[in-house]
Amino acid sequence: MLKNRSAVVTGSTSGIGLGIARAFARVGVNVMLNGFGDAPTIVKLQSELAAETGVQILHHPADVSKADQVAALIKAAETAFGSVDILINNAGIQHVSPIEEFTDERWSAVQNIILNSSFHAIKAALPGMKARNWGRIINLVSVHGLVASPFKSAYVTAKHGQIGLTKTVALEVAETGITCNAICPGYVRTPLVEGQIEAQAKAHNLPHDRVIREVILAAQPTKRFVEIDDVAALAVFLCGDAAGSITGASIPIDGGWSAR
Ligand code: NAD
Repeated sequence: MLKNRSAVVTGSTSGIGLGIARAFARVGVNVMLNGFGDAPTIVKLQSELAAETGVQILHHPADVSKADQVAALIKAAETAFGSVDILINNAGIQHVSPIEEFTDERWSAVQNIILNSSFHAIKAALPGMKARNWGRIINLVSVHGLVASPFKSAYVTAKHGQIGLTKTVALEVAETGITCNAICPGYVRTPLVEGQIEAQAKAHNLPHDRVIREVILAAQPTKRFVEIDDVAALAVFLCGDAAGSITGASIPIDGGWSAR
């Protein structure tokens, strides 16, 4: 049913974005990958996924912290595929610091990569979606779009902002065939989280397994990481016809974290 649709997934050379890109390719969606990484690895990833699924897998190197590069990413996908039917705003970074030591540079980088990029991508993709009267926009947010944790001021602010953006866009396009939703995962074991495990292990002088249990998963009631494939399956569901009336929603997939 999603066969022959086309998607842009920002930050899809790694982690959750890559999992979502794979899941879309497997249901017949052409995918424009985006994100950093070394060129041979990205080319190999593209050719393996294209060979496995038979869809077109392209890559655009836009730095999504820059508005003009986000616009170029959407335009490149529209030119290559004829349309951007699905937009997944997934690119993100984390920076952990007490607020009085938070540098202006890190604050701005987090806002630009997470929140401003989502605005610029939606702005660029919406005219085409409106012209075709069909579209699916998913902002890959976080449980930190719903609740806060100390020392993550920029991330929590950007993620709460993405939820505001999700609701606003959903209302603006409510009478069209376009939906806009937020997926809010708890901890998923990706390179972004591996960095936090490493930093906490050093800070507390603890082995990795204790950091995972006592620090990282302390607020996640299941005490298990959320699986990348489960987040990807939710994204695919939200793009299907059965999800046509789900819009403006912020859906937790967080092992019960936000139920506290
Ligand atoms: P990751 O570090 O594995 O992947 C991040 C991706 O974003 C990479 O492909 C990277 O190249 C890309 N990226 C970073 N800066 C970029 C930029 N300026 N321009 C273009 N691409 C850029 O991270 P992840 O854990 O897969 O996170 C993906 C998203 O999911 C993020 O928005 C993150 O906040 C969110 N999230 C992650 C978790 C988790 O526990 N891992 C939980 C909730 C939400």
